[in-house]
Amino acid sequence: MKIAVMKETHQGEMRVPIIPPSAEKLVKLGAEVEIEAGAGLNCRFSDADYEKAGTRINPSREELLQTADIILRLRKPPREEVDLMKKGAIHISYLDPFREPDLVDKLAAAGVSAVSLEMLPRTTLAQKMDVLSSQANLGGYVAVIVAAGQLDKVFPMMTTPAGTIKPARVFIIGVGVAGLQAIATARRLGARVEAFDTRPVVEEQVKSLGAKFVKVDLGETGETKDGYAKELTPEQMQMQKEGMARACAQADVVITTAQLFGRPAPRIVDRAIIAQMQPGGVIVDMAVETGGNVEGSEVDKIVEIEGVKVIGFGNLPGRVAQTASQMYSSNLANFVDHFWDKEAKSFRLKTDDEIMKGALITHNGAIVNEMYKNIMSKRGWRWMLYF
Ligand code: NAD
Repeated sequence: MKIAVMKETHQGEMRVPIIPPSAEKLVKLGAEVEIEAGAGLNCRFSDADYEKAGTRINPSREELLQTADIILRLRKPPREEVDLMKKGAIHISYLDPFREPDLVDKLAAAGVSAVSLEMLPRTTLAQKMDVLSSQANLGGYVAVIVAAGQLDKVFPMMTTPAGTIKPARVFIIGVGVAGLQAIATARRLGARVEAFDTRPVVEEQVKSLGAKFVKVDLGETGETKDGYAKELTPEQMQMQKEGMARACAQADVVITTAQLFGRPAPRIVDRAIIAQMQPGGVIVDMAVETGGNVEGSEVDKIVEIEGVKVIGFGNLPGRVAQTASQMYSSNLANFVDHFWDKEAKSFRLKTDDEIMKGALITHNGAIVNEMYKNIMSKRGWRWMLYF
């Protein structure tokens, strides 16, 4: 069975999908692994490193796409490459399906079985393949480092002969995987950290990291069966803004990580809240690529609003591309390994497996994912305003 690893072509993407140790793992499973020439160079892995891992280097992208049984990559495939893939090929990557319905249709029509790694269920069994978690974790770390680089104050308290410096105050909004890592990183740098999430269950986790949980009574909020936050009503959103106002006003740094699965991110920090912040303050909008948590944030830019620097860098994990590639690659190899039939030395696409059911979007010429079909059928005109 031939597994092809594609070179990333998206501009500015420094991560690589498979690094040599994971390639070696796939070879040991009994797969014939071919790597597109130069696929690892962004992270300083040479073609020779992949050859040492037992793979073959192929300079022809076209040939790789035409002959592979399994295609591994990081970002969604460019539309024009779908026609090159074999009917029945398995394509495993991020797919961004809710924002790419045309691509999904195209993959189905081409008879490609497309796995969207964003859709993996967040279960204990799937944890080792969970790219959302591994990359969000690094995103949370980078958000704090980027903020610290833009703030004109230090994070830790310092007691010096020149006087005592107060610790910086950091407020984290949204305490999922990224938010937890942001709290931990800001704490390690010595900041005084507060955090808020609409899911009250995270309060204990916030406290265990040495941060304070900001309590805002929003009434019933709840979470989906997969642990994702539910969308707030406009009244609840207003209550949240009022409840968070003090924490924002006192903060030197605000980091927003709030996301709603399959929907645009909630707009939480408006201009009025920004105006209350300390001049010279910094906001990092980690949701900028899915619509933004912060009014006025712009993708890949730092904009100044009411004297506050609003940072909207996309692809934060890509800023620590080596580590991010190591983690993504390991997730990807674990996914393949999980479905690998060791005796037959081939990948078994088990459509009745819970993990596969969650992540498989197209198969046998059709769109097969129930959650995708469900969300897309409910999607209204409001969505289009964001994208
Ligand atoms: P996410 O990226 O979907 O969202 C980030 C955070 O934003 C969430 O904590 C969410 O509650 C919060 N949020 C949404 N709207 C908000 C608002 N208006 N104000 C403030 N916060 C808001 O989350 P994620 O990191 O992908 O995690 C989603 C869920 O999956 C969590 O329950 C997490 O614990 C769970 N999870 C489980 C596993 C596992 O068991 N294997 C692994 C990773 C995550």
